[in-house]
Amino acid sequence: MDILRIEPQGFCRGVEIAIDKSLNLKLNNNVYCLGALIHNQIMVNRLKEKGISTISKKGATRLELLDLVPDNSFVIISAHGASPAVFKKAEEKGLKIVDATCAFVYKTHNEIKKYLSLGYDIYYIGAKGHAEAEGACGISDKIHLISSIDDIDSYNFKDKSFVINQTTMSLYDIKEFHERIKAKNPNVVISNTICMATTKRQEAVINARPCDLFIVVGDKMSSNTGKLYKLASAKSNSIMVESLNELKNYDFKNINTINITSGASTPSDVVDEIINFLKSK
Ligand code: SF4
Repeated sequence: MDILRIEPQGFCRGVEIAIDKSLNLKLNNNVYCLGALIHNQIMVNRLKEKGISTISKKGATRLELLDLVPDNSFVIISAHGASPAVFKKAEEKGLKIVDATCAFVYKTHNEIKKYLSLGYDIYYIGAKGHAEAEGACGISDKIHLISSIDDIDSYNFKDKSFVINQTTMSLYDIKEFHERIKAKNPNVVISNTICMATTKRQEAVINARPCDLFIVVGDKMSSNTGKLYKLASAKSNSIMVESLNELKNYDFKNINTINITSGASTPSDVVDEIINFLKSK
């Protein structure tokens, strides 16, 4: 079997920094992460073993999750960032805040603030309910979320409109969003804030060789992994798995060439384990 590891892989810089910041607190036994530190359950479990608990509740916002953090604790803001209201409430609650927001996410926040101060209407393209979108849209109630291409039809984009996006969007999808917005008003200011890690991983999948099976490794919750899977599926027979377990019963008959990629929050050893398994087939 011919197996090709599509590079780059491994944690992106934002994820590395978030993990390092969290592990630096491990000697304290009252450390809580507001939602998953990164969207990978294997890593969330490993952090838990090191004493970092995740506060989560289906459908709850970061503001609501704060109510579940015990007093006098450390609270970690994940790489996805959070709204100013979350920081304020955490401070008022007397929590010790550890900010692990990725620099690329802060870049979007800063651009939003700049254009708000210039009097622009802000449109944020991102996934409804995703932590990063919640944090960015929470900067002001004047920000409109565009979570599907059809949402664009419900807005009249005036000249002073600024469009920005979640860092882990698909390179193809964002083009489509931008073209549809430009068709409504070519004077809209657009900033594409897909981060470098997302861009490089997606380009590598787009340019990958043809194969019989494209394996995408990562958590179903991970936005950037989901986009890799979508791109891989557009060109090859593809499967998305979180770990080796999901591949053990896969029928590899007639599969001679495999490409393998992974999300920016997928630990490398999970991919190594899969590759070792495939080599033994
Ligand atoms: S995927 Fe991009 S934005 Fe998200 S943590 Fe990594 S570098 Fe930062």
